[in-house]
Amino acid sequence: MFELLAMICIEGLCQERLLPAPALQTEAACIAGAARAEGWVNARQGASVQSTRCAALEDLIAGAATVTEMTPGAFVHQGLIEDTTKRNAGDVSNHGFIIGETSVAVIDAGYSRALGEALYLAIRAQTDKPISHIIFTHMHPDHTLGGDVFLEAGAEGLGAPKFQSAYDNRVLGYIDAQTRLIGAENGHGTFGEIKAREVIEETIDLGARHLRLMSYPTAHTTNDMTILDETAETIWMGDLTFLGHTPALDGSITGWIALLDSLKAGEARRMVPGHGPAQVAFPSGANPTLDYLKGLATSIRASIAKGESLQTALKDTGEDLRKDWKLWDEFHLRNATNAYIELEWE
Ligand SMILES: [Zn+2]
Repeated sequence: MFELLAMICIEGLCQERLLPAPALQTEAACIAGAARAEGWVNARQGASVQSTRCAALEDLIAGAATVTEMTPGAFVHQGLIEDTTKRNAGDVSNHGFIIGETSVAVIDAGYSRALGEALYLAIRAQTDKPISHIIFTHMHPDHTLGGDVFLEAGAEGLGAPKFQSAYDNRVLGYIDAQTRLIGAENGHGTFGEIKAREVIEETIDLGARHLRLMSYPTAHTTNDMTILDETAETIWMGDLTFLGHTPALDGSITGWIALLDSLKAGEARRMVPGHGPAQVAFPSGANPTLDYLKGLATSIRASIAKGESLQTALKDTGEDLRKDWKLWDEFHLRNATNAYIELEWE
């Protein structure tokens, strides 16, 4: 099987991008369809195509993302527990895919076009089956910006009801920040043109493999979604759970605590966190996030009860919660600020 590669130039920077087709292609079909590279650049402002070629899939597999098979047919790419930098090219979140008898579902897509392409190649290293779904656990850019690749490969985008509006409101800012944080070279080809159908609650069938999608009231964000892989008794939590990486609160601390408490009663035995190891036991794996959030809420409520200003509350909160969380300074104060603003209205 063959893939179309196009040398694409954007603002003077030219890189070869993989442009997947909805179906796997023979070499002849790839060559015959190479003109779609023109359509791709015409639809994207500032992009032009210099040349195209068709490459055998086996010659591209070296560029595939590293993935771990957690349970048969379920693969996770584990991001680094680091801040987003040029050195790590934004490879800082977990994403993966699940293979059924008839098709493949992708869960989250990484922070850039390049990371999405690498995940696509990791899928193609395992299976020829069509990619039927790309499911977004929430709108944050480290989980979404590589998503175009899978939509081009024929997948249907799926997200929680508030996903699309939250994403659309922020995407221009996300792409500006991406260029600043990882550089134009690592972000090359990222246009973030993501469309996802709203899902409140739905079971999708990959062929003898059912995924149960659930959306929730505001918790980590306004648009969190979990995916229960029933066959594997595994729940993909997105950023409802963090391990190692300090949790990031961009929604509601009370909503997030209530949601984690309720999810713990579910049937999953393992989970994939949005940041941290590829998989851990569930529900115990949710405890570090839950303990942090509960501790933070208790501390901020105590400050508010004493009549402390936000400034004073921020000084007092957190040292007992710090434990061995990484990226504490980058996230904790912002979480405490968001928690104060929410809780002072209780
Ligand atoms: Zn997030």
